[in-house]
Amino acid sequence: MSIDPTDHLFEAIDERRDELVQLTRALIRFPTVNPPGEAYRPCAEFIGERLRARGFAVDYVRAAGTPGDNDRYPRINVIARHVGAAPGPCVHFNSHIDVVQSGSGWTVDPFAAVVKDGRVYGRGACDMKGGLAASIIAVEALLDLGKKLPGTLEISGTVDEESGGYGGVHYLAERGWFSPPRVDHVIIPEPLNVDRVCIGHRGVWWAEIETHGRMAHGSMPFLGDCAVRHMQAVVDRFERDLYPKLAMRRTDMPVVPSGARHSTLNINSIHGGQPETQGYPAPVVADSCRMVIDRRLLIEESIESVKGEMRELLERLVADRAGFRYTIRDIFEVRPTMADRNGPVARSTAAAIRRVIGRDPEFICSPGTYDQKHIDRVGKLRDCIAYGPGILDLVHQPDEYVVIDDMINSAKVMALAARSLLCGTA
Ligand SMILES: [Zn+2]
Repeated sequence: MSIDPTDHLFEAIDERRDELVQLTRALIRFPTVNPPGEAYRPCAEFIGERLRARGFAVDYVRAAGTPGDNDRYPRINVIARHVGAAPGPCVHFNSHIDVVQSGSGWTVDPFAAVVKDGRVYGRGACDMKGGLAASIIAVEALLDLGKKLPGTLEISGTVDEESGGYGGVHYLAERGWFSPPRVDHVIIPEPLNVDRVCIGHRGVWWAEIETHGRMAHGSMPFLGDCAVRHMQAVVDRFERDLYPKLAMRRTDMPVVPSGARHSTLNINSIHGGQPETQGYPAPVVADSCRMVIDRRLLIEESIESVKGEMRELLERLVADRAGFRYTIRDIFEVRPTMADRNGPVARSTAAAIRRVIGRDPEFICSPGTYDQKHIDRVGKLRDCIAYGPGILDLVHQPDEYVVIDDMINSAKVMALAARSLLCGTA
């Protein structure tokens, strides 16, 4: 009687349960908080040294000159590559090693990596050191069993995802690290739940709108022109014209939660008039008011049309409202991205979820963005998804944790998906 090689693979991962927990804990203990980009180098070296000892070729790439990079906080990325016994495709697991600040409200030390009730707690446990550890264990188990496995396996630990990815995946993608033929399929173990395949994300446009007025004494506001009142007119147009229009626009992207299946606009901040001071403020009419907007776009929308819609709204105010003057400044933009759910990486991951978890996976898109945008737009690699063990709702919260059983299951899914991609059975 022969043992099914897949059962063998699953056993090998089950046997590594303690190792997976210890690896996750070790990763959490590096306080890779971004900003400023703390402990990037030791964390990258920890990953690199582990994989070098297992036969990987390891590169460290510093994203010199990118935002925040300096000798105190170098942007260090690690890429480990294992070439198999025969030619074949390259499957790459990409995780970001940076975490957001811990913030308040924790009942455990955020960097002590406490294990309790079948979970590992800590900042980054869920987003996404648990996913990184699961991918490392998956690849190691696969290589230990399949000495004759064709193709190439890569694992990267990249930085600055939480601040846009410019010192991480964007920098590497610009230099060919995420392009065919070097890499063919990418899985990003972001926390999107163990039974879901995330095929893309909405786009983003951040901008600052400023309304202009004319200063005068606050006791005689009729002699000036108040920029805050002009901004109020902008908000009023949003309420009456724009928000209803955005709510009507529905996407075919399977975004979760479903409220994000529409175009959305958040007003991040409004600052008008003189800066707040201690004591009495000066009695003046505001000559400037600034608003930062966060517009999320659907795959059916273009950045150009979204910007055009905003300009049109503001131009109508110029026509309708006496004295209305504005300027608008782009801050940041990301185009929406969506991989083919019938492409090799999505299909093989979905099949692996069916096998490991025993139910049909859900295909989703993320309401916010992650590094897939750079792999798609800069690396020109479309066969990329996000799949990982963390629970999406816990991301960036106090008492963030990852469930150990979910890490084991996701490691099995990742190993199985990688094997079928390498062997061409996907
Ligand atoms: Zn993340």
